[in-house]
Amino acid sequence: MVLSTGIDMDFSNTPPLDAGHIALFDMDETLVDFQGPLRDRLLLTQGPEEVFPSNLWDMPDHWYQRAQAIKREPGFWRNLPRLQWGWDVLNICQEIGYDIHILTKGPTTGPQAWAEKVEWVREHLPSATLHITDDKRIAYGRVFVDDYWPFMELWLRHRPRGLGIVNYESSKHENLVSIHDGMDVVRERLQEAFDMPLRDAIL
Ligand SMILES: [Mg+2]
Repeated sequence: MVLSTGIDMDFSNTPPLDAGHIALFDMDETLVDFQGPLRDRLLLTQGPEEVFPSNLWDMPDHWYQRAQAIKREPGFWRNLPRLQWGWDVLNICQEIGYDIHILTKGPTTGPQAWAEKVEWVREHLPSATLHITDDKRIAYGRVFVDDYWPFMELWLRHRPRGLGIVNYESSKHENLVSIHDGMDVVRERLQEAFDMPLRDAIL
């Protein structure tokens, strides 16, 4: 493709871009079962008198340090299983015709974990475009599918016409729809967002 500057760029190694119909998908606890395997591994470290943390997102520091050590083990991220709710939404998006992009926060345990996220996506979703980032807010999409409300809230602030698909209460925001509202409702809202003219869908 020859650009306006006259430079001839080779895009043959770049996925096709349908900028108007991007659906962004989170990985951990959306497409990927992260908490289940982490819980199983942490249980192996529980002492006889120890209380297991009730919330794996907010653990006492000594449990958090164990979790970090588990997440640094080679293969931890690469071998995580799929999580069904995210794939149910993904299948609907693919049927409608969305361009699938994976939008995931880079793990705090370092570049090995980032590399294993690449391996996971290439194995399970070879045709998806992958973004591993420190900041999800800057990513554009008509749709964002994510289990974590703070990430969703920040994204919606920057994408006021975006549609968020979640696995918790959709009453938190008018632009949200939850899988608990029923997959027919999810499909309807996804189709509506897909059909919206591009000038209405973007800022
Ligand atoms: Mg998540």
